[in-house]
Amino acid sequence: MNIIDIINKKRLKKELTDEEIKYVVNGYLNNEIKDYQMSALLMAILLNDMTNEEIYSLTKYMADSGEKLDLSPLGNNVVDKHSTGGVGDKTTLIISPIVSSCGVKVAKMSGKGLGHTGGTIDKLESIPGFQVNLTEEEFLNQVNNIGLAITSQTENIALADKKIYALRDVTGTVESIPLIASSIMSKKIALGAKKLVLDIKVGSGALIKNITDAKRLAKLMKDIGEYNGIEVICILTNMNIPLGNNIGNSLEVEEAIDILKNHKQGNLTDICIELSSYMVSLGLNISYEEAKAKVLTSLENGTAYEKFLELIKYQHGDITKLPKSSNKYEIKSMTAGYLTDIDAYKLGVLSMHLGAGRQNKEDTIDYSAGIIVHKNINDYVSIGDIIMTLYTNKDVTDIDNSIFKISDTKADNNKLIYEVIK
Ligand code: URA
Repeated sequence: MNIIDIINKKRLKKELTDEEIKYVVNGYLNNEIKDYQMSALLMAILLNDMTNEEIYSLTKYMADSGEKLDLSPLGNNVVDKHSTGGVGDKTTLIISPIVSSCGVKVAKMSGKGLGHTGGTIDKLESIPGFQVNLTEEEFLNQVNNIGLAITSQTENIALADKKIYALRDVTGTVESIPLIASSIMSKKIALGAKKLVLDIKVGSGALIKNITDAKRLAKLMKDIGEYNGIEVICILTNMNIPLGNNIGNSLEVEEAIDILKNHKQGNLTDICIELSSYMVSLGLNISYEEAKAKVLTSLENGTAYEKFLELIKYQHGDITKLPKSSNKYEIKSMTAGYLTDIDAYKLGVLSMHLGAGRQNKEDTIDYSAGIIVHKNINDYVSIGDIIMTLYTNKDVTDIDNSIFKISDTKADNNKLIYEVIK
């Protein structure tokens, strides 16, 4: 077999065989196939697509290329959740204790953030003392003991995906739907998921910009799941607007507490209730309606918040000592009208520049930095109203005025959930 023949085959829109895909994945992992050859193949895939058979093979060999986790000792009411990434997306912090308090086990491995999107592990690391590096044994024991654990994804999961993803990042080939689907699902297979709720974010702040692509991605991930014995529910959600009001690590932990403890309402709470309900319905094999009733009860009677505190205590965190930044800048409205647009992507980039995110993998982050947006879509703002507060230990000079749009009439772009694909 020869990589040049394989590149040419894909260039001519022909289907690659299982053997050829195995050769590519293993050859790239052990450096027999070079970056420039793999880049050419990835670009041919981005332009000419893949068949489901090709995608199943790619997913399988990437999943097999590293360590695999066996969650079967935990029983069959373990549910995983994955989000394709967004701005201010702290849903894992809120959903995991809700779902666990309803009797469904959550064994969650999460990642760090890069660029304008944040990562769950960074948010948890902003809590002083919180241990994010559990051993496999500690992780499984904790899920057995308290029904919930969140840890950093081990370095050795789906190693071929890791190497290919890093190359896609620098060759303009991230946005290929078959490559995204196989990348995410290879990790989920390796992590032992059997029941999975996927939150596919759509919009300016997300990887997927339109509904057509989101539907194809959802269908593909469901197909891959079915092929591998994983039950998958996909929820297509709006990422044109940020989720909730806080962006930045410790600020997002504060907002999670506000929802779990103080019953804060809004789009973030609504989406967490929806995602939790689908997870509980999968985990307990009950209807969505029954599951939603359990979710609402656990939020209202405080058991979800108690589970959150149990998680923090078990992993040695102290939420009474969340870091605070020294500088605070208030951004006021210069016009009056309805707030019709909040650009999630631009907010994410601003938050990163304030210190809350990484431009490069090796950058250190400031856990206290970030933004609180004080208004929601379609709120009326008067001249001089504070729209957002920036928290940072850096000096702030100029702020992009186009983050917010203020108009005379309300907008109709604030739909939260576009579609659920079961
Ligand atoms: N997240 C992943 O893990 N892989 C992709 O390809 C895109 C998002």
